[in-house]
Parts: sequence; structure tokens; C-alpha cells
Amino acid sequence: EKIRLGIIYGGKSSEHEVSLRTALSIMKAVDANRYEVTPIYVQLDGSWVKGEAIAGQLPEKIEALRLSAGEPTATGTAESGQEVLASSKPASLFAIGQQVDVIFPVVHGPNGEDGTIQGMLELANLPYVGTGVMASAVGMDKWMMKTVFAQTGLPQVKYVGLLRSQWEKNQDEVMDKIERELGYPCFVKPANMGSSVGISKAKNRSELAHALGVAAKFDRRLIVEEFVVAREVEIGVLGNEELVTSVVGEVIAAKEFYDYEAKYKGAGTELSIPAIIPDRVAGEIAELAKTAFQALDGSGLSRVDFFWDEKNDQLYINEVNTMPGFTPFSMYPMLFQAAGVGYSELIDRLVQLAFERHADKQ
Ligand code: ATP
Ligand code: MG
Ligand code: MG
Ligand code: MG
Repeated sequence: EKIRLGIIYGGKSSEHEVSLRTALSIMKAVDANRYEVTPIYVQLDGSWVKGEAIAGQLPEKIEALRLSAGEPTATGTAESGQEVLASSKPASLFAIGQQVDVIFPVVHGPNGEDGTIQGMLELANLPYVGTGVMASAVGMDKWMMKTVFAQTGLPQVKYVGLLRSQWEKNQDEVMDKIERELGYPCFVKPANMGSSVGISKAKNRSELAHALGVAAKFDRRLIVEEFVVAREVEIGVLGNEELVTSVVGEVIAAKEFYDYEAKYKGAGTELSIPAIIPDRVAGEIAELAKTAFQALDGSGLSRVDFFWDEKNDQLYINEVNTMPGFTPFSMYPMLFQAAGVGYSELIDRLVQLAFERHADKQ
């Protein structure tokens, strides 16, 4: 009996393209004798299409399944050969639920990694790979995540969280506060984003104003952090309640920071796996990563990112990524490869963890 695996990918997000690469890698890697894969593509406009979604990549017949009620919009009409299977949300969920045993949602960023898809899958009573609603939501919002880390006693850089509306109404007051609490250089980020989208470094007040303006284009919640000069080290966590960690890897960015170009266009970035750091530091990273994962009530997988200030021997947690890049050449799978868990086996274990978590919730 094959496992019917639905892969939800794409998404109404700046990380759409990243998601396509991950989905394609997974589809290629799974053992066709053990899995029957159903691709479920969330188009950039937010509409859903089931079936062959990356043209020419998959042999299956194209069907369309739309999760939004009512008439398709101009940009969201089904392409030729696609068929709208259902016009209302619950009916569509029910339709998917009958056709797959488990879902692997590989949608990064808002409307994917943030608990929304996970909530929908909970309602459909479907097992799914990865983090649940709460951990996804908390892990997506850097401001909320930092609040949880602080409460858990995890070491992190100083930060200021603010709303776009506060910035727009009281620019000087906001910048005074940031200068008082953080100083320069500082680092400005949209709270709900990934892949370094919308983030920038500010060395003075005019750069800060510009950076806040940029970040505010992406989110109504913003975060400003102290800029640390440190090595960037990352670790993978795998499991539900019993956790295993991967080796630690290091990101060596040729640029000033690990930006979108560096991440996906390979512009001068090197991944050092395992990171050349003392065992004691690697051990501490593993412990902190598990603590962070549990603080969010993680499940399945996460990549936990840290800064290690070697000079002062100080570790800072940066973030938990609940749906990290997942191509065979992405950090998370490579960290586990180095720990002896290959890409296909990793997918098997994640699917197994999805079933176990589903059973545990009942
Ligand atoms: P992803 O989810 O792809 O890892 P992200 O968009 O969530 O990325 P961060 O990881 O928070 O963003 O930041 C992106 C990069 O910016 C980091 O990998 C690091 O190079 C740099 N960076 C982030 N925060 C700081 C900081 N406080 N000080 C110095 N550099 C930083
Ligand atoms: Mg991130
Ligand atoms: Mg991310
Ligand atoms: Mg990161």
C-alpha cells in the first residue's frame, strides 16, 4: 500500500520561487514504489491548483482545485486542461482529504509557514509534516518569537519591536527610542518574512529611516536589532517530543550579511559543514536549539539559527525556521546528510513523524 503524499507548495509569498525548488526536489527524491505524490500548487495570486503545476515536470493529468469560494478572479482562472473541482472551502478540503494520507506543506513565509495552512489541515483532520499552528505562527513572527525566547531565558541580541503605524505617525520618536536602546549599527527586519526579504542594516539615522520604510513595505510588524559581528551558525532539529539534532553548519557570506542573493543565487556564499567550532560550543548550540524548539512546541523539523561571537564566546539565538529551505543543497538537509541521514530518509522520517503527531493529538 503506497503512502499518498500531498505536497502543498508555491504560495502567496515572496518566497514562492524557493518553495517551487523545494517541492520539485521532494517530488524527485521520494521512492515511487512507496509514495504516490499529489502536487497541490498555491499560485502567486493565492488560488489553488491540484495536479501538474510546474509544466513538464510531472506526468499527472492536470486538475484544478480551487479553495476560494465564488467566481475565480481574472488572474486566478484555471488554465486550459485544469478543472475547478470545488467552489467552496470545506468541500475542497474534503476532496483533498479523501485523496491523500498525509500532506507535506512546503510553503515558506506568510500564508504557509505561519500556521495558516497548518490550521486548514487541522480542520481537514489530515496528518501533515512539520510544525503545528502555534509553533508555525510564533516562529514566523520574529517579534513574537523573541518574546517567547526572552521568557524562556534564551540568549539573544537586544531588539525593539514596533508597528508600521507607530513608525508612520511618530518617526522621530521611534528613531529616538531605537538610538537610545540599540544604537548603530542596527538591523531592521519585517517581523513576518524569511529569506532575508526586506531586511537592511542601518549605520545612521537617515539609513534607519530608509530601512524602516523598506521593511514597512513587507509587514505591519517590524523588528529592529542590535547588529552583531559574529559567526553565523545553524543547526537542524528533527523529531516531535524526542529530538535529535544535526551537526552544526556555518554560513560564510562574502557580503556584509546573508541576503536573498547570497542565499539563492549562490553569490559568494559558502556553507561550512560541519562548522569548525569547538565541540563545547556545538554542544551548547544543540541544547539551545532543542530548548527553543520546545519553547515553541515545535514538531517535525526546524532549522535554528545562531550568532556566535567568538571573541567574547557568546552565543545568541537568531531564529527558528519552522519550514527551512529543503532542497538537497539547502542547509537543513545538508546538516542531516552530514549527520548520516540522507535526503530521502529525511523525508521518510518526517512523514512518519507527521503520522505519529496526528495520532498523538487524537
Ligand atoms: P531565513 O529565514 O532565510 O534564515 P530571515 O529573513 O528570517 O532569513 P534572518 O535570519 O533574521 O532573516 O537575517 C538574515 C541574515 O541577516 C542573517 O542570516 C544574518 O546574515 C544577518 N543578520 C540578521 N540579524 C542580524 C543581526 N542582529 N546582526 C548581524 N547580522 C544579522
Ligand atoms: Mg528566518
Ligand atoms: Mg524563513
Ligand atoms: Mg535566518
